[in-house]
Amino acid sequence: MTTSGYIDSYYTRSLKDTSGYAPLKGEVEADVCIIGGGIAGISTAWELTQRGLSVALLEKSRIAWGASGRNGGILSAGWAGPDSTLFRGGEAAGRALYDLSREGVKTVIDNTRDLALAGVDPVPGRVSASRYPDAKGMQETVRSARMQFGHEKEYLPTAELRKLVNSDRFFDGYFDPESYHIHPLNYCKGLAQHIVKNGGQLFEMSEMIFMDHDGAEKITRTTEGSVKSKHVVMCGSGYSGKEFGRLYNSLLPIATYVISTKNLGGRLDGLMNTSAAVADTRLSCDYFRVTPTGELLWGGGMSGLAKSPPDLAALMKNRVLEVFPQLEDVDVEVAWTGLMGYARHKMPYVQQVKPNIWAATGLGGHGLNTGPAIGRVVAEAIAENGKRHELFAPFDLCWNGSVFGPLAADTICAASNFSHKIRERFSRG
Ligand SMILES: Cc1cc2nc3c(=O)[nH]c(=O)nc-3n(C[C@H](O)[C@H](O)[C@H](O)COP(=O)(O)OP(=O)(O)OC[C@H]3O[C@@H](n4cnc5c(N)ncnc54)[C@H](O)[C@@H]3O)c2cc1C
Repeated sequence: MTTSGYIDSYYTRSLKDTSGYAPLKGEVEADVCIIGGGIAGISTAWELTQRGLSVALLEKSRIAWGASGRNGGILSAGWAGPDSTLFRGGEAAGRALYDLSREGVKTVIDNTRDLALAGVDPVPGRVSASRYPDAKGMQETVRSARMQFGHEKEYLPTAELRKLVNSDRFFDGYFDPESYHIHPLNYCKGLAQHIVKNGGQLFEMSEMIFMDHDGAEKITRTTEGSVKSKHVVMCGSGYSGKEFGRLYNSLLPIATYVISTKNLGGRLDGLMNTSAAVADTRLSCDYFRVTPTGELLWGGGMSGLAKSPPDLAALMKNRVLEVFPQLEDVDVEVAWTGLMGYARHKMPYVQQVKPNIWAATGLGGHGLNTGPAIGRVVAEAIAENGKRHELFAPFDLCWNGSVFGPLAADTICAASNFSHKIRERFSRG
């Protein structure tokens, strides 16, 4: 197999491992059947094989074909929702959840190093930048990260920030030395190889179409085969269909967009004077970075209606030009869309929805660290009677609002963007 089946993206163009896995045919058995081969699914599979359990993973397309193989590549602590959400279960639980998110970052970095995963190429650092003067807000963010979580970030006044990212769009910000950016598709594909080396069974082009999960033996069917297992973990996220039952009605798919340029050589000298990733502070933010091979990779925008605009490359180029008007003549090489799966509370679903049937999904826009984190928590629960999944008890399944959910998400996003726009306008006088 090659890159066929994947969308065209910077990541598929620089994919290291183009091998594939055969579809499921006939019946196989495993301790755990995992549905969905994104970072949540493969992290769960990896952690289970590390604990001596057998796994069979079903992916309807290719490994990390969904959000996990087409995202911005920014690996940082935290969850998709605001930090304040973490404290629903109390102070200690809030801190434990944040620590878990940091553990997720460390897991990716450790796996990349220990397993010598090719082409993941972690680059440290992330700059967070406000599009209006906000010294107080940024200092408070830095202070509360230190006080609440012991996470040291460095406040950047406007002049310091602009030494790193030379754009008059940006004002105050902070630098997070614990963040990285990575090649997420190479990470997922590399980890998949090691799951197989550990005896795990991976099946691509194997869509789960039916689940018979009421008996002690769980049967999960595809068109050409079935998996018999003791446990099941559902990781379909924004790409889940009706076959996931109640979970489908609890997830809101939100589209977001990325472009990359060709290698820009020295064109970014003087504009991007940092190898760190950059993100602004809006809900529907711009996030961008220079890849280790010199392309500018730029993400941003959101649609609750899960739409991909026809003129995506041009729309995204406008976002680049708002920040760096000097790049007018730079062409977009490739533009793509991905779907994030959100719960209404913006935290993932990590729970047994029925005895031995787990949900480990709904990572929203912050999955590169949280996928490995929840994969470990679920593996601990299944293999070792671990209890860390109880941290997620305050974040139960909640109805996605059906047709009104996407409209509500778009409205919240538009309202937040509007309030940022007003502050930006005032800041420019
Ligand atoms: C454009 C974009 C940019 C992002 N940027 C960042 C970022 O910079 N940093 C960050 O941390 N996060 C980012 N995110 C979020 C992050 O990518 C996701 O949170 C994370 O990848 C979700 O992983 P997942 O495994 O839960 O879901 P996915 O990666 O979406 O995987 C779900 C998989 O399930 C499969 N599936 C669905 N239904 C079935 C079925 N019936 N049978 C079998 N398989 C099925 C799908 O094919 C898919 O491969 C971004 C997301 C997008 C879309």
